[in-house]
Amino acid sequence: MALPIITVGEPVLRLSARRLDRDEIRSHAIQDLIAHMRDTMYAAPGVGLAAPQVGHSLQLAVIEDKPEYHAKLDAEQLAIRERTPVPFHVIINPVLELLDSPQLAFFEGCLSLPGYTAAVARSRRVRVSCLDHEAKIRVIEASGWYARILQHEIDHLNGTLYIDRMNCRTFTSLEHYERFWKGKSVSAILDQVATSGR
Ligand code: ZN
Repeated sequence: MALPIITVGEPVLRLSARRLDRDEIRSHAIQDLIAHMRDTMYAAPGVGLAAPQVGHSLQLAVIEDKPEYHAKLDAEQLAIRERTPVPFHVIINPVLELLDSPQLAFFEGCLSLPGYTAAVARSRRVRVSCLDHEAKIRVIEASGWYARILQHEIDHLNGTLYIDRMNCRTFTSLEHYERFWKGKSVSAILDQVATSGR
């Protein structure tokens, strides 16, 4: 069952979410929530969804980057993003470690800010220590787009949205992104918006 997705301005998106203990993770309530969040992510569609986005201030997110989502990107776009399929999985109580400095910029969006996008600089490589849907310890080493998804979702669990990290001058509707910027490199767009204000 897909749940309604909460959009920017609702206070729950700005809270630091509560950690879950192992018994709670195995409870019907949390297992049901995970199933509903999976349905919600597929229906959107999106590559990640954090519990606060469906109104639960809990340290829990679901992630999956399906091959079919890559169909609208060409091979070069996939390569520069280092975007490869990621199977469905759950992260709970994640601790994020950035393995390089956050300086790789790409446009990203958020289901809680529908219709908009902006360039966000993130780390290319991360390590995440967390629990999975069975409360088992997992250590994830990720790079490229998957590392970006992890950073975006873990931000949600700490009350942070991409608009807190974006290059503000690149903020645009998706419609205008398609119209004016599609196919341009992020560095070209950054140059363009930097000079157009002078
Ligand atoms: Zn988001």
